[in-house]
Amino acid sequence: MLALTLLAAAPAQARWLKRTVDGIMGTRIYVELWADDDARGEAAIDAVMDEMRHIDDSMSTYKPTSEVSKVNALAAQQAVPISRELFDLLTTALEYSRITEGAFDITYASVGYLYDFRAHKKPTESQIQAALPAVNYQHVLLDAATRTVRFSQPGVRIDLGGIAKGYSVDCGIDILRKRGYTHALVNAGGDSRVIGDRLGRPWVIGIRHPDHPDRVITRIPLIDAAFSTSGDYERYFDENGVRYHHIIDPHTGHSASKVRSATVIAPTATRTDGLSKTAFVLGPEEAMRIYNQLDDVDAVLVTPDGHILYSKGLEPGQPKPPPAAADNAKAGNAQ
Ligand code: ADP
Ligand code: MG
Repeated sequence: MLALTLLAAAPAQARWLKRTVDGIMGTRIYVELWADDDARGEAAIDAVMDEMRHIDDSMSTYKPTSEVSKVNALAAQQAVPISRELFDLLTTALEYSRITEGAFDITYASVGYLYDFRAHKKPTESQIQAALPAVNYQHVLLDAATRTVRFSQPGVRIDLGGIAKGYSVDCGIDILRKRGYTHALVNAGGDSRVIGDRLGRPWVIGIRHPDHPDRVITRIPLIDAAFSTSGDYERYFDENGVRYHHIIDPHTGHSASKVRSATVIAPTATRTDGLSKTAFVLGPEEAMRIYNQLDDVDAVLVTPDGHILYSKGLEPGQPKPPPAAADNAKAGNAQ
């Protein structure tokens, strides 16, 4: 009798729940979690997807009704009141501009909007020169007292495409943590974060070869960490031997090509997203100098000639990952 009662009270078999949804924030969202209750687990994933849709609705520049689109339409003429969420993310974005010495700059969009990589469209040099004075994060003026944003001059546009995905991953992870999940992964495009490990083994991220999507050039084991990979192969077109791609050098208005890919590892995905564009703009040496100064940041860079560079914390000679890590599957659909 006792055995029967115990059996009846036993939870259903715990298992990994996984879901992929296309088309939120112009990318693919992937959530994976270890759940002992399917219905609760699925509801948690629903909540993460809803949160991502909410962030997309308020921050996409492709949606004319988004808060960011309204800011772009009005902030050169007047101070625009904005939500606390957007105010806080703009504050964080400006902080990354300072940390990266201007390489990360949400006003890149003042010239960035002239590119359409899908349509193979790029601006002329004179269009770039005309738009370039508007690119400077210092043109974005935030006033905490009134919770408003204003642009210091006409022509300024912002785009959070370089940080909103990382931020949304952190929001998704917060939702899962509050619901008690201790093993999970959330991924949005190039940005991911994991809670805990993969049941006794670390999560393992594979960094892909810039020219061969199926080839992994290195693997890194992670527990309780975020990582972002930026690559010149994500959104691009080639013309006359030049690659035009979606990471823009705020100083020149051209695609930034000093590395082929950059993977940054840190505690939050907002941070890794905000830092992963830096190496394209500043180059591997300058970027590594910045990454190595930040105690909680590591990075793997692939240079144009194919060399792989590691930040201090990942250099050979550092303690090796446990042998089990090598057998582990790629972390979700992260690259
Ligand atoms: P993903 O969109 O896959 O996460 P990235 O993290 O590499 O890719 O972000 C690339 C995006 O960052 C671009 O599509 C653009 O929206 C934005 N961006 C481009 N150049 C810059 C820059 N210099 N500073 C900040 N954001 C940028
Ligand atoms: Mg990103």
